[in-house]
Amino acid sequence: MDYRVLLYYNYTTIEDPEAFAAEHLAFCKSLDLKGRILVANEGINGTLSGTIAQTEAYMEHMLQDLRFADTMFKIDESEGHAFRKMFVRPRPELVSLNLEQDIDPHELTGKYLKPTEFKEALLDEDTIVIDARNDYEYDLGHFRGAIRPDIRNFRELPQWIQDNKEQFMDKKVVTYCTGGIRCEKFSGWLLREGIEDVAQLHGGIATYGKDPEVRGELWDGQMYVFDDRIAVEINQVDKQIVGKDWFDGTPCERYINCANPECNRQILTSEENEAKHLGGCSYDCAASEHNRYIVKHNISAEERVARLAAIQEEVTA
Ligand SMILES: [Zn+2]
Repeated sequence: MDYRVLLYYNYTTIEDPEAFAAEHLAFCKSLDLKGRILVANEGINGTLSGTIAQTEAYMEHMLQDLRFADTMFKIDESEGHAFRKMFVRPRPELVSLNLEQDIDPHELTGKYLKPTEFKEALLDEDTIVIDARNDYEYDLGHFRGAIRPDIRNFRELPQWIQDNKEQFMDKKVVTYCTGGIRCEKFSGWLLREGIEDVAQLHGGIATYGKDPEVRGELWDGQMYVFDDRIAVEINQVDKQIVGKDWFDGTPCERYINCANPECNRQILTSEENEAKHLGGCSYDCAASEHNRYIVKHNISAEERVARLAAIQEEVTA
C-alpha cells in the first residue's frame, strides 16, 4: 500500500479558473500525480492518486495557499494509481443542480453532522435520510433505510424532491453524499425550498467509513467511486452486500463495463454470467460487432453464434 487516493473539495473563490487550471495542471504533473480536478469561480473539487510522498507534497502545497488552507482531505490507501491521466478542468460550477438561482454554501447550507451525530440521525425514527447521489451509486451501497431518489444525475434531484415533497416537508431531513460536496448545495437548496430542519453528513460517506467510533456501521454494500477502483469498502462492523447481479439478481459486487464500446454501461455481474452474455448488458450489446469481450477472450465465430442464440432464448423465455 504505497499509494494513496485523495478526495477533497473547497468552496472558495478562484478569480480566474482558466488560468488557475492551467497552472495547477502543470503543478500536478510535476508531482507525477494522476486524477481529475474541477475548478470554478466557486472553488475546487478533486480526486487524485499518487505515492505517499507525492500526495503529501500536494496537500502541503494546497494547505499553504490561503484559499485552500481549511481543506479537508479524505485519504484512502491504495495499491497503485486509481487514474490513468491527470486532468484539471475549468467549469462554470463544481456541481450543478440546474438551478436558475444557484446556491452559495457559504450563505445557505444544512447543519453539519459529525459521523456519530449522523449515526444517531440514522437511528432516529423521526428523521428522513436522503441519499443525494445517483441511482446507480445507491444501488451498489447506501445507508440502511435511506431514501433512494430515482435520478441518473444530480441535476435531476430538485425536480425529484419537488415531485415527492409531501414525504419531507414537516420532517427532519438529513442528506449525505460521497465526500460532502453535493450536500453543501443540496441541503442549502432544501432550506430555500422551505424545509426547516436540514442537516448534512460533513465529509460524506468517505469520512464516515474512516471514523474510529462509527467505523462505517449501518452502511450496506460498497461505496461507488468515480475512479478505476469503482467501489470501496465502508462498513467495518456489520457489512451486508446489497449489489445485485444485472442478469439474475443474486448478491454481487463485481463491476464490469458493458462490452459494447458504444454502450459502456457499468453493471454488476458474476464472471459466469458475463461469459454467458458475452459481456453485453443486452442482446444488442452482446451482438455488437465491436464487442470487446469477444476479442479479449478469443471467442470463435461458432461459439459467438451459440451464445447469442442462448441469450435470445433466455430473453424470450
Ligand atoms: Zn450495453
